[in-house]
Amino acid sequence: MGNDIINENEINSLINKSTTDKEYIKSILDKSLDLKGLELNEVAILLNINDDELLEMLFENALKIKEQIYGKRLVLFAPLYISNYCSNNCLYCGFRADNDEIHRITLTIDEIKEETKSILEQGHKRVLMLMGENHKNCTFDYFIEAILAVYSVKDSKGNSIRRINLEIAPLNDEEFKRLSQIPIGTYTVFQETYHLETYKKVHPSGKKSDYYWRLSCMDRALSNGLHDVGIGALFGLYDYRFEVLALIAHSNHLDKTYGIGPHTISIPRIKPAKNAPLSQNVPYAVNDKNFKKLIAILRSAVPYTGMILSTREPAELRNELFQLGISQISAGSRTNPGGYKQGLSPTDEDSQFHLNDCRSSGEVIHDVIKSGFIPSFCTSCYRLGRVGGDFMEQAKPGLIKLFCQPNALITLKEYLIDYADQETKKIGEKLIAEELTKFENEALKRKISEILNKIENGERDIYI
Ligand code: SAM
Ligand code: SF4
Repeated sequence: MGNDIINENEINSLINKSTTDKEYIKSILDKSLDLKGLELNEVAILLNINDDELLEMLFENALKIKEQIYGKRLVLFAPLYISNYCSNNCLYCGFRADNDEIHRITLTIDEIKEETKSILEQGHKRVLMLMGENHKNCTFDYFIEAILAVYSVKDSKGNSIRRINLEIAPLNDEEFKRLSQIPIGTYTVFQETYHLETYKKVHPSGKKSDYYWRLSCMDRALSNGLHDVGIGALFGLYDYRFEVLALIAHSNHLDKTYGIGPHTISIPRIKPAKNAPLSQNVPYAVNDKNFKKLIAILRSAVPYTGMILSTREPAELRNELFQLGISQISAGSRTNPGGYKQGLSPTDEDSQFHLNDCRSSGEVIHDVIKSGFIPSFCTSCYRLGRVGGDFMEQAKPGLIKLFCQPNALITLKEYLIDYADQETKKIGEKLIAEELTKFENEALKRKISEILNKIENGERDIYI
């Protein structure tokens, strides 16, 4: 199965492919604007460009592509960690089993509800639930119970979490079947590194040391009833060009086999973590210039996918990266179980890793509006069953923005009324009014205006 997904020989034969023929490179960049994606050999050439003019073109195209597919919205979410027990020993992670310097905790169901309430009070409607892999201290049954508990919570405004995405260790067929019976959004697992030899070195023990079990996990997910899956690589473990080519090969495999490419691709870079040797001495650190390049290339090569940027990156850089095709962001995050309720710092030393964007959710939303993007709390696709292949049918030709853009304005309106400070309210209302004038379809414009009025009059959770 592994070789069907990632062919290392092929990737190695492409990784240094470059050309001095600028016109050819420009033709690849032009091709990406057709929204049909790029071949691996074309991606390899883009990965090896250094010319500033070409890079600028690549960056501009990435934003155009993202806006053609998804419009100007940036979807927001918050991670919710429920346990930091872990039997694996990933050398970059603060939760690794051999780290005896952190306090271990599995939240009780009541504590999970409290944590959810704190996240809701920030205005979030989507959470990403995470935990370490430890079958004794955080079982699959507990995880299922936790998901249902999160949905059951209401905050002081009467709002609830409307979509739960998951990022937990690879499951077996039976577990995926059970998961498919409860309401979840995207299931995500990062391969960390697609390079087999490196993978083995950095995952010395525990279930996670099995590269192929992890690599084949999205095949199991999609074969057992899940609709949307997310993939990613942890940048810094191996040559970023290898990881990008492999991420695209993995996407192509899923798309070809199931007709469903990855719903999202994540691009985390390794950040310092307590007592995690590899995080202090990153073997293939990716600098900002190459980071920007790889984000823009992924956007160009897999145009339909959502691209997620977390608070691992600092605020200023995040604002720049939004311009390169990012479509989903976390805000106000904590990476330790109980971190929201206890008001712990994003740099708390027991965190899974240190976060660099320490702004509150409110500050992030304010800044997103200022930079001309629309913060969105939309959960419409999943609520209306626009998932899996149906979602792809809308996303690939760029039709999904006809839903994304209106729902972004509607959910932003809810946020502004329920949670925003005066200044954010002012700039947010202005943005909504401006964006509304841009809809060419008069009937749609009227419909959105009507919904916005209903929200103003106290109705909630309306979506199209
Ligand atoms: N424990 C599960 C697993 O590993 O699949 C669930 C996900 S884990 C809680 C979330 C992700 O954090 C990992 O997949 C890894 O890529 C990332 N991570 C771990 N240590 C990190 C670090 N030092 N810096 C940045 N990201 C890190
Ligand atoms: Fe455990 Fe996940 Fe951290 Fe690895 S990355 S040690 S599996 S929590």
